[in-house]
Amino acid sequence: MVMQAWTERVPLRHVSEAPRRARLREPQGSDELSVGGVDTRCAVQLLDRLLDGAPCSAAELSASDRDGLLAALHRRLWGDRIVCSLECPGCKAMYDLSFELSMLQRQLMEQGEAAHTVQARCIVDAGGARFTLPGADEEEAAAERGLDAGVAQLLAAITGGEGVDAEALGQRMEALAPVLDLELDTRCAECGQPQLARFDIQSFLLQRLLDEREAVLSEVHTLATGYGWSLPDIVGLPRSLRRALVQRLAAAPAALG
Ligand SMILES: [Zn+2]
Repeated sequence: MVMQAWTERVPLRHVSEAPRRARLREPQGSDELSVGGVDTRCAVQLLDRLLDGAPCSAAELSASDRDGLLAALHRRLWGDRIVCSLECPGCKAMYDLSFELSMLQRQLMEQGEAAHTVQARCIVDAGGARFTLPGADEEEAAAERGLDAGVAQLLAAITGGEGVDAEALGQRMEALAPVLDLELDTRCAECGQPQLARFDIQSFLLQRLLDEREAVLSEVHTLATGYGWSLPDIVGLPRSLRRALVQRLAAAPAALG
């Protein structure tokens, strides 16, 4: 009963001057059940569990690199296509927003500007301006200080100076180190009313794992009942193997006994 769990090599742009790749391993039940929310701290905890021989903790990655890892994880777990259900603010009809993650990532890269990484999370643009991208700890510290003080703190940390225009700097960051957190133009399928829909890979992926929690528990239950294995053994199985075994049990329940 050997089945190879997958690993995925994902490029990291902001770890060192030379591009690096991180290796993500396939989640096990214990990883899936460890997710407790959709915030950055939860994303960092999940990535730290799944990163295999990483160059640093996920907390030290830029948001852009973190989102790249989360997008790769989404692709391996559920595929490249994202479908979100939206309610039209005009006619209240429900309609789907659907797109491919890889296409969105490509667009962001194409619209962006080249930046050169000089050391961990420190990038230089074509004009020689230097920016330090915040890690998860800086983002969290800024969030705790409230909106205005937090934004000011982040800006000072990014540029190393004061008196920076928040909006202009935000646009520079979007171009230089894009994150998968954006507003997408949508249109109601019924009445045509336009609507801006917010999509961010972090909360989308973590929410998807939270939504699957009951299904994971019932798969664990099925395997415990079917094979008599212990809980640590079952939640230590790679996700794809666990699901394949559950299907097998469902297909041949009479063979057990
Ligand atoms: Zn409508």
